[in-house]
Amino acid sequence: MIVDPLGRRFKNLRVSLTAACNYACTYCVPDGKKLQALSAELSEQELNYAVRLLVEAGGIDRLRITGGEPLISPKFDALLDSLNELSLLDIAITTNGQFLSKKLPVIKRAGITRLNVSLDTLDHTAFRSIARSGDLATVLEGIEEALALGLQVKVNCVPIRTANLDQLLPILEYCLARNIELRYIELMNMGHLKHNQSYEQDFVGMDEILEKIGAKYDYYKIDAPLDSTSVRFEIPDFGRFGIIANESEPFCRTCTRLRLSSNGQIFGCLSNSKAFSIKQLLNEPYPQAITEMQTVLRSAMQLKQRLAFTGETTVMKFIGG
Ligand code: SAM
Repeated sequence: MIVDPLGRRFKNLRVSLTAACNYACTYCVPDGKKLQALSAELSEQELNYAVRLLVEAGGIDRLRITGGEPLISPKFDALLDSLNELSLLDIAITTNGQFLSKKLPVIKRAGITRLNVSLDTLDHTAFRSIARSGDLATVLEGIEEALALGLQVKVNCVPIRTANLDQLLPILEYCLARNIELRYIELMNMGHLKHNQSYEQDFVGMDEILEKIGAKYDYYKIDAPLDSTSVRFEIPDFGRFGIIANESEPFCRTCTRLRLSSNGQIFGCLSNSKAFSIKQLLNEPYPQAITEMQTVLRSAMQLKQRLAFTGETTVMKFIGG
């Protein structure tokens, strides 16, 4: 097992299936142009092999499939179908939900029980101006269908001062009414935001989010697993919510995450754009490739921040949100 001096090890693998996305969210891309697949993305076989090697070499027991938008990747169905060969404790998907209804049968067939759906607003006009594409009603239908099939849904919402501050309570109430655990994600200083004043203006921190909620509801903090990225709260008689407080309460010291980009780059830290390509290694037969993968993982582990997320020009789409 690969353990660093702070006792951190890799447990969670986040796989970006594709950098392509059918949205062009303002905080993710600067110019409104929809994201395209990277050149030389891994093939279906390479991807499935990479995941198998990473799980074994890194001691991974939790997998999250993300992107870009994973549900638009032609590799989505094959990856899901290949996962039951691996001994994983948990498999989850992060999606913008636009194609959720269509993909629910594949998700159910693969035995996946957990989904995170991104939803920054319940206002149709604001939705279009944040995502610069898509249709809110379609996302909401997808969520209802996933719930009806018994899937556990979480909603991700990024509070942005100039875009959805008025939506923080409506989204919470939408989630509480459906027994969905909402995760507010503090805006991360990544990609084009890294060199842009709009980051400071748009950032909404945990204290402010809690103040808004506290004006209407009583809440108290509850325990979260040690390597959890979210601070979790309970509203008695209503339900739970969490805040991924990467700025207000950094979680680097207990981070167990490892990221694989769609073109075969390994990232040990969201706050470091240095990456290691595993494309060549995927030509090696099993089990020789395991030893080489472990060498890569040792180097990736050294990239982890010790204390706090410092921001990076790497864009979330490349390395998997
Ligand atoms: N397309 C999928 C989706 O929309 O959920 C998966 C990829 S997206 C990069 C994953 C998550 O990262 C989304 O919930 C998105 O809101 C969040 N995200 C992207 N850029 C972010 C940023 N700069 N700060 C905080 N969250 C961000």
